[in-house]
Amino acid sequence: MFDWKEHPHRRYNPLTGEWVLVSPHRTRRPWLGQRERPSPDNQPAYDPTCYLCPGNQRAGGARNPSYTSTFVFDNDFAALKPGTPPGAFDHGNLLRARSERGVCRVVCFSPRHDLTLARMAPALIRPVVDEWVHQYQELGALEFIRYVQIFENRGEMMGASNPHPHGQIWAAETLPNEVAKEDAAQLGYRGSWGRCLLCDYVRLEEECGERLVFENDVFVVLVPFWAVWPFETLVVPRTHATGIDELDDAGRDELASILSRLAVCYDNLFTAPFPYTMGFHQRPSDGQAHPHWHFHAHFYPPLLRSATVRKFMVGFEMLGTPQRDITAESAAARLRELPAKHYLEDQP
Ligand SMILES: [Zn+2]
Ligand SMILES: [Zn+2]
Ligand SMILES: [Zn+2]
Repeated sequence: MFDWKEHPHRRYNPLTGEWVLVSPHRTRRPWLGQRERPSPDNQPAYDPTCYLCPGNQRAGGARNPSYTSTFVFDNDFAALKPGTPPGAFDHGNLLRARSERGVCRVVCFSPRHDLTLARMAPALIRPVVDEWVHQYQELGALEFIRYVQIFENRGEMMGASNPHPHGQIWAAETLPNEVAKEDAAQLGYRGSWGRCLLCDYVRLEEECGERLVFENDVFVVLVPFWAVWPFETLVVPRTHATGIDELDDAGRDELASILSRLAVCYDNLFTAPFPYTMGFHQRPSDGQAHPHWHFHAHFYPPLLRSATVRKFMVGFEMLGTPQRDITAESAAARLRELPAKHYLEDQP
């Protein structure tokens, strides 16, 4: 008889309509609990060679102001540019290209070169939340922008070349692929059931409990049932909001607080700085209401068993379907039991 907690199975992701293979029998052996030696905090507070530190010159030639909180600038090597001329290329119904306009910005989270979200108190993350809201509104108001993607790549493993705490914002003329899938899924769910997909999902996870990591008054952090990455999480407001700009003052504080707690928890998992890509998904910026959208953040960390052993998406996963061994339920349990205090604070 099929037991989804024992036997290999597929899990459905209702946000994208895709499946993930789960092989729980491969992790029946007890957790080895491998811990890295705590890595020291060896970054200087100011690095004269860093192009993001206050007062320093960037590769494009501009000089950063002596900023004291967050600092935003247009990416000197932007992937998308606002002045791209409109146009299309079509050949034989198979070769298709469309012009794409956009804006790419860099958001420095702090003037301090040596901090990360995990090392920033919630009160220091709050200005970052305010900046995200401001940028979402400002870029979303541009006539040619339909989607504002806010994200952070953290760690060399994720391709972040500079340790200075910063994220990026790419605002585009069309919906990116992942957003388009989630848009269609949420619209479809609302059409079928008359309710919001993620409102229903959060309620269900709060009932089950086994995939919850922690929650506060406004947000819940959980390992989604259909997670692909070993310690993937979803940060979701518990009540309906289509975008980060709908958070009131208390909601923004709660977001800063839960992001801080999650970042600390991740660093504590392998007592090492934890790499990830994180980003928000929210309603498109085309001026429509999009009531089916429930905003949320995804954290996609690549690490599997230690600070050096990562998961690769290769072989069957690249050609077929992603697969995982450690279940979402056991990943959530591992994250839940971690201390709330950052491991470096225990150092002499
Ligand atoms: Zn720096
Ligand atoms: Zn909702
Ligand atoms: Zn999403």
